Amino acid sequence: MHVGNLRTALYAYLLAKKNGGDFVLRIEDTDRERMVEGAIETIYKTLKNAGISWDEGPDVGGNYGPYIQSERMHIFKDYARELVKKGYAYYCFCDKERLDQVKDIQKASGIAPKYDGHCRNLSSEEVQKKLKSGVPYVIRQKMPQEGSTTFHDVVFGEITFENSDLDDQILIKSDQMPTYNFANVVDDHLMEISHVIRGSEYLSSTPKYNLLYDAFGWSRPVYIHCPPVMKNSTEKLSKRNGDATFEDLLNKGYLPQAVVNYIVMLGWSPKSEEEIFSLSELVDVFDVSGISKSPAIFDLPKLTAINAKYIRNMSDEEFWSYAEPYVKSVCKRELDFKLLSQMLKTRTEIFKDIPQQVDFIDSLPKYSSDLYIHKKMKTNEENSLDALRKILPILENVDTWSKESVHDALFDLIKSLNLKNGRVLWPLRVALSGKSFTPGGGIELAALLGKDESISRIKKGIEKLESISNQN
Ligand code: ZN
Repeated sequence: MHVGNLRTALYAYLLAKKNGGDFVLRIEDTDRERMVEGAIETIYKTLKNAGISWDEGPDVGGNYGPYIQSERMHIFKDYARELVKKGYAYYCFCDKERLDQVKDIQKASGIAPKYDGHCRNLSSEEVQKKLKSGVPYVIRQKMPQEGSTTFHDVVFGEITFENSDLDDQILIKSDQMPTYNFANVVDDHLMEISHVIRGSEYLSSTPKYNLLYDAFGWSRPVYIHCPPVMKNSTEKLSKRNGDATFEDLLNKGYLPQAVVNYIVMLGWSPKSEEEIFSLSELVDVFDVSGISKSPAIFDLPKLTAINAKYIRNMSDEEFWSYAEPYVKSVCKRELDFKLLSQMLKTRTEIFKDIPQQVDFIDSLPKYSSDLYIHKKMKTNEENSLDALRKILPILENVDTWSKESVHDALFDLIKSLNLKNGRVLWPLRVALSGKSFTPGGGIELAALLGKDESISRIKKGIEKLESISNQN
């Protein structure tokens, strides 16, 4: 499910829950040509992962079922016949050849393609005769040819369309199946749908929907059209262009609750400056007046920043429940998970960042002695060798190994040598990790690796620097 679709579902859910309504899941699967294998399962899975539960739907039932549109096919034709009887729809017997001709002529004269109304005024005798002799037909909506249709949209305000621009759209196709637009209106009415939230690309077809409601004498729903989600100032975010779906984002290591939080903020803003909300907090603060008319741009770095905030706010246990598989993918050693979680939490924006941060734990990587040269820390190969030689006996003497005991021992040393911290701790960090970027400093790394491994790595660092000093 792509991000724009999920956003629409979230707005519908939040609006329903905020107002004590029901969120209904209906599967509109009548367009067989556009059916995608596994799509329905993806809808269930995505909504569940996003924390959205439905009050009525195919799997949970309800008083207005069935909730799968293909199981409702028997319903629609009678409604279309009712409109024919009332004069709001008519039988059209035009074949493809004739319709193509009309289209070609319109195209050549630069007119927008539209049904030409050829069958609008057939007499009922003519219609009966054709029906009896089995001429294939469709049922079309009879649009008024004069005047205009106005409706109110919550986001875009009053919108007026000239009726003469409206096409006599097909309601029942020649295979006797309803079109998407027709089934949608009938089902929305039968299921007592009060609010229609959808993309602004539907604004121009809303008058046709409204004329159907009016023709049946049904009350129109409240319309809330949302501006599109863009990937930049000109292109819409779309699955077809390979833009990330909700599932892709989860697979990249984003938290579902962070993605949901961010998606709701795409084109909607709360009244406060606050930007971190759980789904239940969103139910409280959501207000349709905060939906913007301008398109929203999907900003991955912004999502990443929100994800990082979620991670930082986690308890060590919760963090570990997500991080463990990422750590274990490169690191088999038994570790103090609380310490490692504390180290990683503030340095992890998405969980995929983790493996590259812990890849030194199982075994010391090969590294260049250049790493010991650090301008800001004022370290070089020579004074690093000196520092490691002094660190070694100090740490060998630590009996109860912990972050605190290692810290105290090293700071006693730093004080007695009257050096800046970095002169001692930078060489230690390099010797323990073989890297310049690590999820913690020398003290944390030592605590994490344990005494034996730390001592062994410091000795290796000393050997490495000795061999270089001998070469010089
Ligand atoms: Zn016709």
